[in-house]
Amino acid sequence: MTEWQKTNWRNKPRVQMPDYTDEAALAKVEAQLSQYPPLVFAGEARRLKQHLGAAGRGEAFLLQGGDCAESFEQFSADAIRDTFKVMLQMAMVLTYGAKVPVVKVGRMAGQFAKPRSAPTEMVDGVELPSYRGDIINELAFTPESRIPNPNKMLQAYTQAAATLNLLRAFSTGGFADMSHVHSWTLGFADGQDVQKYSEIADRIQDSIDFMGAAGITADTTHEFSSVEFYTSHEGLLLEYEEALTRLDSTSGNWLAGSGHMIWIGDRTRQPDGAHVEFCRGVLNPIGLKCGPTTTAEDLKVLMAKLNPENEEGRLTLIARFGAGNAGEHLPRLVKAVKEEGAKVTWVCDPMHGNTIKSATGYKTRPFDSVLREVRDFFGVHQAEGTIPGGVHFEMTGLDVTECTGGVRAVTEEDLSDRYHTACDPRLNASQSLELAFLVAEELTN
Ligand code: PEP
Ligand code: MN
Repeated sequence: MTEWQKTNWRNKPRVQMPDYTDEAALAKVEAQLSQYPPLVFAGEARRLKQHLGAAGRGEAFLLQGGDCAESFEQFSADAIRDTFKVMLQMAMVLTYGAKVPVVKVGRMAGQFAKPRSAPTEMVDGVELPSYRGDIINELAFTPESRIPNPNKMLQAYTQAAATLNLLRAFSTGGFADMSHVHSWTLGFADGQDVQKYSEIADRIQDSIDFMGAAGITADTTHEFSSVEFYTSHEGLLLEYEEALTRLDSTSGNWLAGSGHMIWIGDRTRQPDGAHVEFCRGVLNPIGLKCGPTTTAEDLKVLMAKLNPENEEGRLTLIARFGAGNAGEHLPRLVKAVKEEGAKVTWVCDPMHGNTIKSATGYKTRPFDSVLREVRDFFGVHQAEGTIPGGVHFEMTGLDVTECTGGVRAVTEEDLSDRYHTACDPRLNASQSLELAFLVAEELTN
């Protein structure tokens, strides 16, 4: 095979990417981004790969979560803090359930580009190009807003850099102190309606008290007060990805400098397509969404292309079939992995197969469907003797009303109250934490 180059994807069929009309402006942005520092470093990506390898062996568990699409308009320190905070809470609950370290990966600091089910959108008889995420065009339903503008890549880069900077500060600056994180969870589990979770919460508190008595506190122990937190996004907008790709001088390999992990979406995983071509050549851990249309044959080809050395932690397969469908689709893919002797990390995305339209007209996801898909996923792995390595959620630390259900139930009528997502509906803070308790129960069983 000829040597991989970061530009080779340009010779392959591309889908879900914008056709920029202003080529001079595009070239200028690409040249500028190529000069900017990468957002992440190769050693970090390699370390995440090791952690994901451990998750594939059942020695760690992945929690990946964040917005469907990060927004320029809703960008704020508080929103980043709140999502980070709820992820830490979830991670503690999951650590307790899984009895292994939880690998924390945000859909953050780069999750700006969106694949769409249709290239255009029709509203009241007017047809316009679809919104493709803030890194490409704008949500407002006007012809100007929907023109892809390459300059938005610069704003995305700046926002991603600022987000990552804050995440790095939160990770090590005292915010992640376990006793604080758990006191927030106790606050949640104190409510009358969530009594059923208070037992686990109390047991975690006992563990913290025990560690404290044994001298393990934020003052004495680094791990008690700081976390490793990684970033990820769909590697969809390849001009942006290419411009941030850098040669790692230590290994001589290429690094996608836009985030620690990038994934290939369900709509862009054509084995001979541009996205697979780009991702196969970078050293980062790669995610691959697997949906109802993923065939065993395609999966085998994709595994060979994306992980020819069969390296642990390199490839995370993110199953997203919809509640009740994993039994039909997951076994054939698990079998394909077994037949190839491939090392993969299996993760469940219970969001993207469970999007429905509410009677009130909102795109939503019922909490019960999300939970059911996670349970299906665990059930198939138990039956197959394989390892469920983690979960992938669209979620926010904000108190939005986008998904229905949960113990603090959001009803279809409530959806209009605080429906803020620019794209898919997210679990709110309470629903996210509740789900972590329920997944922890699965892991304990
Ligand atoms: C996503 O994760 O935001 C997404 C679009 O998922 P999928 O490719 O699985 O539909
Ligand atoms: Mn989504």
